[in-house]
Amino acid sequence: MDCIFCKIINGDFNTEFVLENEHAVVFNDINPKAPVHMLVVPRLHVASLNELNDKNLLGELMMTVKEAAKKAGLKSYKTLINTGKEAGQEVFHLHIHVMGEKK
Ligand code: 5GP
Ligand code: ZN
Repeated sequence: MDCIFCKIINGDFNTEFVLENEHAVVFNDINPKAPVHMLVVPRLHVASLNELNDKNLLGELMMTVKEAAKKAGLKSYKTLINTGKEAGQEVFHLHIHVMGEKK
């Protein structure tokens, strides 16, 4: 499958991970929209939130958001999931944006 995030998860681009666990990997956005801009990405290829039916995985992803924010030194941050092209989704592998600034 030609999915850029699957390739990153696979280590094809030697992308540094902020953290990784059984369910997800976290890495910095290549085009940051905030001083800290990370992406929390499930290891499982799911095209978007519309294709996700696993409540447990969603819970694990949100717990990973919290862990990544803590690790990056963010006490305050925004989370964003773009779902569908019209909403601005460019990469069709589910991901949660985590954006903030260390204070
Ligand atoms: P979307 O618009 O799909 O919600 O977000 C996709 C995000 O992935 C964008 O913010 C974009 O900058 C980021 N991105 C796209 N390709 C790469 C890549 O190869 N490496 C990294 N680190 N981020 C990427
Ligand atoms: Zn993928």
